[in-house]
Formats: sequence, structure tokens, C-alpha cells
Amino acid sequence: MTDTPDHSPDRTPDHTLDETLPPPELTTDLERAAWERLGTVLDPEIRRPVTELGMVASITEDPASGHLTIGVRLTIAGCPMRDTITDDVTRALEGLPGCSGAEVVMAVMTAEQRAALKGMLTEGRPANQFGEGTLARVYAVASGKGGVGKSTVTANLAAALAERGLAVGLIDADIHGFSIPGLLGTAARPTRVDEMILPPVAHGVKVVSIGMFLDADRPVAWRGPMLHRALEQFVTDVYWGDLDVLLVDLPPGTGDIAISAAQLLPTSELLIVTTPQQAAAQVAARAGELSGQTGQQVAGVVENMAAMTLPDGTVLDLFGSGGGQIVADRLTERLDSTVPLLGSVPLDQELRQDGDGGTPVVLEHPGSAAGTELRRIAESLAVRPRGLSGLKLPVTPRD
Ligand code: ADP
Repeated sequence: MTDTPDHSPDRTPDHTLDETLPPPELTTDLERAAWERLGTVLDPEIRRPVTELGMVASITEDPASGHLTIGVRLTIAGCPMRDTITDDVTRALEGLPGCSGAEVVMAVMTAEQRAALKGMLTEGRPANQFGEGTLARVYAVASGKGGVGKSTVTANLAAALAERGLAVGLIDADIHGFSIPGLLGTAARPTRVDEMILPPVAHGVKVVSIGMFLDADRPVAWRGPMLHRALEQFVTDVYWGDLDVLLVDLPPGTGDIAISAAQLLPTSELLIVTTPQQAAAQVAARAGELSGQTGQQVAGVVENMAAMTLPDGTVLDLFGSGGGQIVADRLTERLDSTVPLLGSVPLDQELRQDGDGGTPVVLEHPGSAAGTELRRIAESLAVRPRGLSGLKLPVTPRD
């Protein structure tokens, strides 16, 4: 047996948050009322009230005018969320009785203060937030080959689940074709608080992509171990908070990343995306069969680019039909557990256009043919019971 080094960081903060990031002294009723209001302002990345995060340093009333000055501590100097926080704080104080106006004054946390915040956020959490026992449902989205709409389906499912009120994270691990940031319309870079990474939030989805850490114009020539390390960092160093669902957009095929994802996310289940084209079914099924070796469940198959109905009623089935069902049947047979066809998303120009525009079709055109079907699939994933994920169900041997 080899010794496994313990990488788990010390997750007990040296000082309590209140000692290092003390709350403001409130001396007037207006200041106290403002503090209450600021309790409704969420940090855009961490998604918790700024008052709980030690970000409100001071609230000072000018008694003569009823004007408030709010001192806000940012995690880092170049915080991309600076304007959003200013707007949110100002808006929260609008209409506050007795307040004639508010000004936000920014300061930056010291290294010690950042460490205290990080300690508070990670305290009591295991290093791998998605290890055994996680309450999040984790779906790794795979396909046999590229170009079948895997990333498009992933982005839409994430946005639809977030719209339903679930806390959703998305890891774009499709190293050679990272397209998730574009599909969700974000060019934001994650904020770093020491080695902790705060993911940007797009359409309610916390998202990290390998593309956010790369030089956009340089081709990616990473080898397996580097990919594994990158994915590991996404799992351990990103502050995800309490997620209901984590989606992982895998590269097509059955490469290293798919295996790394299975190891790092032991409760993950696979979602297989395929086209209706029967000839492609075999290669898609192979991606699903990997689960036999990794011990993952296959949550289901999504058929994409299915027949579309034109305005004159003509049905256009560019890629034929039946591929999704073939993959579901084949996996059911090979894996000895029922793998359902979760839905069949038609070819839809609006879906393509909305993806290019950075707002998923489920939000921009929820009533379109593709939007309706994708929302239905998201709903079926949202209501699946948590407890079963990752557990091998007892199966009855076939005769
Ligand atoms: P993958 O992740 O499998 O490589 P993408 O999600 O990047 O595939 O999709 C490939 C292209 O196909 C994109 O331009 C996307 O907009 C388009 N596309 C995907 N699904 C559909 C669909 N149902 N109807 C029309 N275009 C689609």
C-alpha cells in the first residue's frame, strides 16, 4: 500500500470573522435600519449577504442631512464585481425612511482579512465538496463525438435548473472546445481570494471553464496529468457554496478527463448526448459504457438535433431518427440498469441563435420547440431523488 498524502488544508480559521472583519458600529436608528437593508444584498459571486461576509465596514449617517456613507470591503483590489456591489447596495437603501441618499466608499481587504473570510467560507467543508456524501446531484455530460450539441444542452439544462430556483454549478471541462462561457454570455474571469476561486455567475449559474484560465488565442496542448490537476482544482479550490446540482461538460469521447471526473466526482452520473443518427449511436453508447468501468450510473440519454417541424408543417429530419432510443436501449442492456431516453430536442434555429447570443434558449425563448423540451428534461432531472445518485442499485441478473 502506498501512503496517500493528506492534502486537506487546515480549515479552521485563526481568528473569527468578527475579530478580523468587525461589523460596523451602528449608533443611530437610520444606521441600524440601513444594516438591516444591507442584509438583503448578496455578494454576486459568493451568493451570501454582504453583512455576513464582513464586507460592510462602516455605515455613517450625516445627522444634518440624513445622508449615509457605506464603507464596503472588497475581497481584491480589481474586483470585477465592484460596480454590481455598488449598484446593489445603493438600490437596497433606496426609499429607506429618513435616508436622503447614500454613497458607497470602497476599500480592499488585507491579506489577513481575506484569510479570515476564506476560513469562514471553507470551515467544516471537506476539501472535495463533491466527495462521497455530497448532497449535490452531479451530472457529467458526455457524448461520443463532438458537434452533437453537448455543450448547448449542458448550458441550457444548467440555466433551466437555476431558473427553477436550484443552486447550480457548471464545470466546463471540454478542454479543446470550451464553449460554455460563450453560451452563457460571460467573459468574466473568476476572482481569486488567495488560492480560493470565486466562480462568475451567469444566468444564475456558477460557472468555471478551463477557457477562463487560458490565453484565448493559444492552442491547448495539455497532457492528461495537467487536465486532471485542472479539474481537481475546479473541484477543490472553487468556492461552490451549497449546490443542488453540479453539471460537468466533458470533452467528447472516453478520454482522460472523463475518467478523472469519475474519480474526483464519485457520485456523478452520466448524461449522454447523441443525435438521432443511428450510425453515431454506437460511438455514443461507448461513452456511456465507460460507466461500467468507473462505477457511475447513467442518468439518461438526451437526443439532440432531432426532426424539426417547419412553419408549413413539413418535417425536416436531417439526422434521421431513433438514435437516442438505440443508445438508451443499448446501455440498458449492457449496464443492467434502466437508462431512460430523457427527451429529444429538435433542431431549432432559435436555440442556435440564442446560444450564439449568450442567453440560453430556455430563458430567451422558453416556449420554442427546443426550449420547451429542454425545460422538460431539466424538470425531470430536478425532481429525481437525491439519495440514489452514485449508489449502485441492486439489479436482478438476467436469465
Ligand atoms: P458539442 O458540445 O457537442 O461539440 P455544441 O453544443 O458546441 O456541440 O453545438 C455545436 C453546434 O450546433 C453549435 O453551433 C450549436 O449552436 C448547434 N446546435 C446544437 N444543438 C442544436 C439544435 N438542437 N438546433 C440547432 N443547432 C444546434
